[in-house]
Amino acid sequence: MRYVAAGLILVVAIGALAVWQRHSLVFYALSSDGMPPLLEAQDEGQNVRWVDDYFTVQAIDARTYAIGEPRYVQQCYSYLIIGSERALLFDAGPGYFDIRSVAESLTDKPITFLPSHFHFDHTGNEITFDRVAVVDLPYLRERAPDNELALTSDEHLGYVEGVENITLKVDEWVAPGSDISLGGRSLRILYTPGHTEDSISLFDAQANLLFTGDFIYPGPLFAFLRNSGMGDYVAGADTVISSAPETTRVLGAHRIVPPGAPEIVMDDVKDLRAALDEIKAGEIEGQGVFPVVYRVNDKIELWAEPPYLQDWTVPQLLSDKDQ
Ligand SMILES: [Zn+2]
Repeated sequence: MRYVAAGLILVVAIGALAVWQRHSLVFYALSSDGMPPLLEAQDEGQNVRWVDDYFTVQAIDARTYAIGEPRYVQQCYSYLIIGSERALLFDAGPGYFDIRSVAESLTDKPITFLPSHFHFDHTGNEITFDRVAVVDLPYLRERAPDNELALTSDEHLGYVEGVENITLKVDEWVAPGSDISLGGRSLRILYTPGHTEDSISLFDAQANLLFTGDFIYPGPLFAFLRNSGMGDYVAGADTVISSAPETTRVLGAHRIVPPGAPEIVMDDVKDLRAALDEIKAGEIEGQGVFPVVYRVNDKIELWAEPPYLQDWTVPQLLSDKDQ
């Protein structure tokens, strides 16, 4: 009897540990030591030019390029957004190859790097930039009085592929709701948490382009991370929907199928918003245990915590700033 009780306590303890460490467990299961094997190059269509048999370059319009890494397992897409005075590189991939020189080959303007969020597959890591901009959130500022922001392992997740955590030297803090000027071109910083609490999107009203990072793209959206939140996702979706018109082209940071950059439409953001309401109300059933996979539409899934662990708290910052 005593052994049964001890066994039961052990099982409960292991179960509790597994629930507590659920985020790390998922990634330890997926982790690799160093860069994962490259995928086969696929047909990327007429509008895409290959660089070094690794990167792809695709003109979105005359002053905007998607720089793809379709042979990297996560199929990352970064965006070079060019103004008359400077250019912005929104995300920089995992840094296994030199994205900086690809970006520099596309513009003679100085480049500012701005990550959509701090995951290692966006921060460039080994590849560094002369000028770095970071979202201005109070808890990040507090950690960087000297403008050196050391990322936490939950923010960076580099351990998944054995990538060293980094410290960003911040030249420019960009506030949610403010505009960043590139000369003759300006981008609105939209605070779009959900995937992570530090996620931003960029809206170029003149070009009618929205760059969403990992907030939304065609494929599985990760909302089960330690710094993800379902209430955050609601707030982020509301911000996007109220900021950009129906006709806006929406460009995300990952894709799963070729060809070309991951482009969706505003209706997909609305589908995500509707799915969030349905998930909250228990009206759609997810698949699996952890993460639980919810279908948003035929392009998008939302990978979330199980219902009893979902956090629907809407972030304070948004209601404060009322952007
Ligand atoms: Zn990512």
